Amino acid sequence: MDSKVRVRFAPSPTGGLHIGGVRTVLFNYLFAKHHGGEFILRIEDTDQSRFVAGAEQYILDTLNWCGMVPDESPVHPGAYGPYRQSERKHLYKQYADQLIAQGHAYYAFDTAADLEAKRSQIPNFQYSRAHRMEMKNSIALSESEVSDLLKSNTPYVIRIKMPEQENLTFHDLIRGEVSFDTSTVDDKVLLKADGMPTYHLAVVVDDHLMKITHAFRGEEWLPSAPVHILLWKYLFGLDKMPKWAHLPLILKPEGHGKLSKRDGERLGFPVFAMDWMDPNTKEQTIGFKERGFLPEALINLLALLGWNDGTDKEIFSIEELISQFSLERVHKGGAKFDYEKAKWFNQEWIKKTDDATLAALVNPFFDDAQIEVHEPSYLVKVIGLVKDRCHLLTDFITQSSFFFQAPSQIDTAALLPKWDDKKQAFFSALMLEYQTMLSKGVTLTQASELELHFKNLAATHEIKPGDLMLPLRLMLVGGKFGPGVFDIIQSIELEDAQKRIDHSLKLLSNK
Ligand code: GLU
Repeated sequence: MDSKVRVRFAPSPTGGLHIGGVRTVLFNYLFAKHHGGEFILRIEDTDQSRFVAGAEQYILDTLNWCGMVPDESPVHPGAYGPYRQSERKHLYKQYADQLIAQGHAYYAFDTAADLEAKRSQIPNFQYSRAHRMEMKNSIALSESEVSDLLKSNTPYVIRIKMPEQENLTFHDLIRGEVSFDTSTVDDKVLLKADGMPTYHLAVVVDDHLMKITHAFRGEEWLPSAPVHILLWKYLFGLDKMPKWAHLPLILKPEGHGKLSKRDGERLGFPVFAMDWMDPNTKEQTIGFKERGFLPEALINLLALLGWNDGTDKEIFSIEELISQFSLERVHKGGAKFDYEKAKWFNQEWIKKTDDATLAALVNPFFDDAQIEVHEPSYLVKVIGLVKDRCHLLTDFITQSSFFFQAPSQIDTAALLPKWDDKKQAFFSALMLEYQTMLSKGVTLTQASELELHFKNLAATHEIKPGDLMLPLRLMLVGGKFGPGVFDIIQSIELEDAQKRIDHSLKLLSNK
């Protein structure tokens, strides 16, 4: 590349960050880092009516959690600040004025009531070539009328004058040649009555002033491209325009339409990166983080939604993605979201993460579940025993709470059908042997010793050890899950094991 690559993620701070947005960040980030370039976060907050308090901090927190920290941002400014468009308000008017002077934009004085009246008269009204002469603007009005309106400080907006039937073409890095007919696009507002630019003007001016070389955004922005191309052509020259890539959508699991927050609610999975609480409605939306995903897994699964390296390889670290990523291998079509596959990625990353790191990540979930972890090294050991069974960090609670406290319920219904006097006698004897060992201070420290002892006792009682394993598991764990039973006894120790067997025998004798 001739100049240093500079890309930007340019979210509007209107709420939680959808995973489609996180994937846009990811592709920006991977491309920048692959080319030794810079990744910029610019907050597009010119639409004050959609501004939501806390949303910017949420975006920063999400990027930090994902490990994609911008090189320049509102909290870490570089040479091209400010990085919030609302703080750049003074920069935009001169460009709108320039467009007016060039004849590519015009003043529009129509009031909200004027526009409403027009909309009620004409179905699907668009402020465009077809109707602009019927409106109150500097094209339809005489020069003196316009200057009177300006002198009397009549509020106005500045609109782009879309040219008639101009065919605009640009090269999209994912889609190839894309063409538009300008007559299908309306005269978008560029500068609002309060002096704030709209997204269209601000995005072009800022991409220019911030020396952005490549602009990647979701494909829902494709219809805006003709306006942006024209603004580039009129203001800075098309040769200066960043290279564009419109990223395919993340689709609903069924495949039709964009994955929405509602789909997540309907199907019971997160769609936002982290928990989000709307400060106005107090509506709470669950995030991948709080659902128990590792950021490495979220990054990995999002990278593979729309990209692959040309082989069957599916597990990639961020470093591998940086070195392998290329836009040529991003698909044009949307990718269906599959939550089961997402959990598979997380499970793979749980297996790859060392036990001590997992323990630190799982600890807050134990706090939330009010399970006390007295000994951090014990938690690390337990993690090692159950990690293969966990898809989510929250699964560690269900898979291992019995290591920290006796199960609150024993599935006696699973025990009863095959329960008989012989088993009753065996477990009573086992409990007594454990009691004796405890009173003598003898303790079996290896799972293999516990197993041998158990099998010998079973032989004495003439029962197949295989018939005793499920009852033992149910007594210790409460249900039909968990790692090896002798690993469990070795971890919770004889005294606890003996108490749990005792408790279960009492429950059974009451049935
Ligand atoms: N502010 C737009 C958004 O909210 C950014 C689109 C772009 O990247 O140009 O997604």
